[in-house]
Amino acid sequence: MEILSHTGRPDLAQIFVAKMRDNADFMVEFVDACDPTVGDRRRKWVIVISTQFGCPVKCLMCDAGGAFKGNLTFQEISSQVETVVAAHGDIDPGQCDKLKIQFARMGEPSLNDAVLEVLAWLKDFCPTVIPCIATITPAGREAWFAELLKIRDCFRDFQLQLSVNSTDDAYRDKLMPYPKMSWEWMAEYGREFHRKGQRTVCLNFALSPEIPVSAAATREYFDPEHFVVKLTPLNPTTTAEENGMSPADNRADAECRVACKAEEFLRLGFSVIESIGDMEENLIGSNCGQAVRKLRLASW
Ligand code: SF4
Repeated sequence: MEILSHTGRPDLAQIFVAKMRDNADFMVEFVDACDPTVGDRRRKWVIVISTQFGCPVKCLMCDAGGAFKGNLTFQEISSQVETVVAAHGDIDPGQCDKLKIQFARMGEPSLNDAVLEVLAWLKDFCPTVIPCIATITPAGREAWFAELLKIRDCFRDFQLQLSVNSTDDAYRDKLMPYPKMSWEWMAEYGREFHRKGQRTVCLNFALSPEIPVSAAATREYFDPEHFVVKLTPLNPTTTAEENGMSPADNRADAECRVACKAEEFLRLGFSVIESIGDMEENLIGSNCGQAVRKLRLASW
């Protein structure tokens, strides 16, 4: 792995862009983030890693989509974690109160079998780590998800996020143009994934005026006993802009979108995470695929 760039703010999010296989076609990005409200990686540390070169799903709002060049190997994924940890040699990851490794940067993690190997490695690398898988639940990956269910039990905590994004089937297929599991499958798998007394499964929605999201339709399949709803304003990516989508312009706009939709879900008994984030993260390009895209454009 060759680190090509390392940008951002140490107290917020730093984005690494790396070249693999000594070939500029194989670039990935990964993130070393610190919660600014906590300000100490020993208390809360989030490392976000890539699992594919580009992404075959090609979501309408994501800069990581397109230019798909295949899966990262076990070593290419684990080295992202090792690189970030090594950048903070004074911190023992095992002593961190809350270290999350999110498989949520470039790529759909369930399309890569090496992700399961990395999870098995992670439990030895840092037994207290909290893995987080964000997935659109691609169709045909039942065996991968069955294996994930077993691996989950190796960790004291595990976060599964289902990228629902829209409750309108036609729009959902347009937004995430890749074959996906059914609503029934997602609801059943999520119920099974949720361990009693532990973290519920997260249903992710990226909010924008053109994306239909109905709390009532969500409630038809998902039981608030097993699922929590996470609402995030649509990030301002180049791809979203090219596709005529409407990211939040400013913090007030973002808060308003999220709060209005949160009301609907709260009324139906869901717990809601309102995830506005730090608007500066948008300026430093911390959204999926932005850093690689920027570097590619600069080198053209
Ligand atoms: S949002 Fe996730 S699944 Fe969709 S294109 Fe981006 S990386 Fe792929």
